[in-house]
Amino acid sequence: MSASKTIFKRIIDGEIPADVVYEDSQCLAFRDVNPQAPVHVLVIPKKEIASLAHLAEDDAPLMGHLMLVIRNLAAELGLDSGFRVVANSGPDAGQSVDHLHFHLLGNRSLSWPPG
Ligand code: AMP
Repeated sequence: MSASKTIFKRIIDGEIPADVVYEDSQCLAFRDVNPQAPVHVLVIPKKEIASLAHLAEDDAPLMGHLMLVIRNLAAELGLDSGFRVVANSGPDAGQSVDHLHFHLLGNRSLSWPPG
């Protein structure tokens, strides 16, 4: 298993550093190394779930928890005029790390539709 650890699992396990902005028993939030907005935080479950497509029915409380963490972070990081939450899932969406993650983006005007 360790040979196929994702980079996010290595961050969870403390093997590589990250700019952590929030942590609890179920999740971790840290700043993206290649930020696409002045605030760009990744919120990830500590449980290894590859993507939204891999969710199990009993992951529902965990997903609800992550949404509340995102709500709290958006407020704490001052995203009062709005923010965007993105979960790229699978190759067509450009998912590059196979560990579920929510991008929290804000502090700039965000265009729509995304690319
Ligand atoms: P995605 O393309 O949706 O899978 O998003 C993966 C994100 O992880 C990208 O925005 C990367 O910049 C970010 N990323 C990759 N490695 C790290 C890292 N070590 N620390 C923080 N962010 C990372």
